[in-house]
Amino acid sequence: MAGALRGVVALDGPSGTGKTTVARTLAATLGAEYLDTGAMYRVLTLAVLRAGIDPEDAEAVASLARRTEVGVGTSPHTPTASLDGADVGERIRTEEVNGAVSAVSAVPEVRGLLVAHQRRIIAEAVATTGGIVVDGRDIGTVVAPEAPLKVFLTASADVRARRRSAQDSAAGRASTPSDAKASVERRDQLDSTRATSPLRPAEDAVSLDTSELTVEQVIEALRALADRHGILTHASGGIAETRR
Ligand code: C5P
Repeated sequence: MAGALRGVVALDGPSGTGKTTVARTLAATLGAEYLDTGAMYRVLTLAVLRAGIDPEDAEAVASLARRTEVGVGTSPHTPTASLDGADVGERIRTEEVNGAVSAVSAVPEVRGLLVAHQRRIIAEAVATTGGIVVDGRDIGTVVAPEAPLKVFLTASADVRARRRSAQDSAAGRASTPSDAKASVERRDQLDSTRATSPLRPAEDAVSLDTSELTVEQVIEALRALADRHGILTHASGGIAETRR
């Protein structure tokens, strides 16, 4: 029996580690909500590109961020993303957005605004549904450092490039493994070297290398970790009890 999640699972790691697929599936399996924080940075990046603002112009980006409404749904079954109320779920996954998102997300004011938004979403999910799986780069270190389970997913650069390319092709976007490799390596380099909340594991995060694992195996490993951390409730005789 899968059990139901109570509390927050923080899932961080570089692009192409399978984080998004794994986080969504885990949330759906455990009756929890799901938050894709990368989608929020992507929505804002789309706004920057549409406004013709240089993503490196931190002041102009911060000013736009203050007047932009970034929306994300938390259902693991139907993830949604909106910009000022309009659906942009597909448009935030283009190569243009990939190329600009690291610069936008390095702006401290952008991070301040989106982290506050993410914390509100997490608090509401915990208060209503009871559990949420949050996927990003700084969840265990900045957004939810009190999360009872923090996992840092890794995978070799080649595996990550192959996964990203397969995802792009499945979504009808032109992609080769070598383009994907250059793109994920560039983004990871920028994300891990920025001054504000760089990509890095929290001190108490569990590292999980997914290079040789299927999605199902990663889900099972995470479910077992959640159980071991005492955040799965198991129905027994109609009464939910928490295993420790
Ligand atoms: O997860 P995804 O690849 O969609 O994230 C897109 C980008 O958003 C990352 O490369 C990173 O620059 C930024 N990001 C971030 N902090 C997060 C999530 C994503 O800076 N928590």
